Amino acid sequence: MAMKKTVRDVDLAGQRVLVRVDFNVPLDDGRVTDDSRIQAAIPTIEYLRKRGCRVILMSHLGRPKGTPSDALRLDPAARRLGELLGADVQKIDELSGPAAEAAVEAMLPGTVLVLENSRFDPREEKNDPALAEELARLGDLYVNDAFSAAHRAHATTAGIAERIPAVAGLLMEKELLGLARVLAEPARPLVVVLGGAKVSDKIMVIDRFLDFADTLLIGGAMSFAFMRAMGKEVGASKVEEEGVSVAAGALEKAGRVPCRLVLPSDLVVADRFAEDASTQVVGVDEVPAGWMGLDIGPRTREVFSVEIAGAGTVFWNGPMGVFEMGPFASGTKAVAEAMAASSGVTVVGGGDSVAAVNLFGLAEQMDHVSLGGGASLEYMEGAELPGVAILADRGEA
Ligand code: ADP
Ligand code: MG
Repeated sequence: MAMKKTVRDVDLAGQRVLVRVDFNVPLDDGRVTDDSRIQAAIPTIEYLRKRGCRVILMSHLGRPKGTPSDALRLDPAARRLGELLGADVQKIDELSGPAAEAAVEAMLPGTVLVLENSRFDPREEKNDPALAEELARLGDLYVNDAFSAAHRAHATTAGIAERIPAVAGLLMEKELLGLARVLAEPARPLVVVLGGAKVSDKIMVIDRFLDFADTLLIGGAMSFAFMRAMGKEVGASKVEEEGVSVAAGALEKAGRVPCRLVLPSDLVVADRFAEDASTQVVGVDEVPAGWMGLDIGPRTREVFSVEIAGAGTVFWNGPMGVFEMGPFASGTKAVAEAMAASSGVTVVGGGDSVAAVNLFGLAEQMDHVSLGGGASLEYMEGAELPGVAILADRGEA
C-alpha cells in the first residue's frame, strides 16, 4: 500500500487550508450528544493552527439531500469544537461562493472557520466540478481527515482534490496505518472475527479474508445464515434469507482454502426478543421451535477467546449477539476482553462493534479502533476509496 503524504510533509506557512472533517455527529435539541468525531479531528486542526494556517472546515451532517434544513446546520458542531479548542470558531451559513470567499479573506492566521453542511448543496453528492471549483477557490491546500467519508466520491471528498494539492490529515493517517496492520503483512496467525446482523453486508469481507486470513470466527445473527445453509433448524432466530446462498458459497470456499472457518457450537436462546425473556443455553443442533439465538453460548465464547489469545493479529467487525441487552452481551464482551488481553495486534472496525468496545470500557486496550464505519469495511474488502486515492503519494512532487 502506497503511503500518502500528510500535513507533516508539506510547507504550511501562510496557507489557507481546507480540511474535510467528519462532523456527522448525533444531535439532540441543538446539542451534540456524542462528540467523539469532533475530538478525533482535533489533532489535525491544532497542528495547522499552531503553524499559523487559516483552517477552513467542511463536513456533511445527516441526509439533507441537497436542501438546507435548520435541524442539520453545523452550528452545534462548530460550537462544540470551540469549547474543545478553547478558542473562537466562526461558522457561516454558506459552503462556497462570494460570502464564503469574503469570510476566508477576513480570517487571521491560526483561526478556524466552519463552512455549512456540504450536503445542503445538491452538487456535493454529484461531485459536480462547478462546486469543486468554487471550493478550491477558498484554499491553497486540501486536507482529507474524514476517512469515514472516503468511500464516497463527492465534491468535498474527491472533486476538490483534483484542483489544489491534497494530503492526508492526522486522523486519516492513523486510520490508514491502523488498518494496514491487518492488510499489509499482518503478524500471523491473522484471526478475523465477524458478526452483526447481515451476511450480505459483509460478503466481500468474508470472501477476501477466506483468501487471506488464517482463521475466520463467525458469530452474531450472521451465523444463522450459515447454519441454515448447513441444513440446521434455527427456530425463530433472525435469518437473512438472501444471506443463505452467500453463506453456502462461503462454506464451499472454506473447504478449498487453508483458512479455517469456525461457527458457534452453542447459543444463548430466548423465547422472545426482550431483555427479560426466558433464556437457555443450547447446542446449535438443539434450538427449540419458536426460540431465537441472541448470543453465542459459553462453549463458543471459550473457543473464540482461545483463538484470539493465540493470534498475531485480530480484526473484529460485528457484535456476537444483541449486546445492547444485558443478558445477550456476554459473547460480544468475551471477544472484546480476549482482544484487550491479547499480546497481538488488535483492530476493531464497525459502528456497533466500536460502540460495544466503548460500552465495555476497553477501547484504550485496542491497537486501533476505526471510526470509519462503512468506509473501513470497504477498505478491508480491498476497495480503493476515492477519498484516499486522490491524496498525493509519498515521493510524489
Ligand atoms: P457493525 O456496526 O459493528 O458492523 P452490524 O451493524 O453488522 O455491526 O450489526 C450490529 C447489530 O447486530 C446489533 O444491533 C446487534 O444487536 C445485532 N445482532 C447481533 N447478533 C444478533 C442476533 N443473534 N440476533 C439479532 N440481532 C443480532
Ligand atoms: Mg452497524
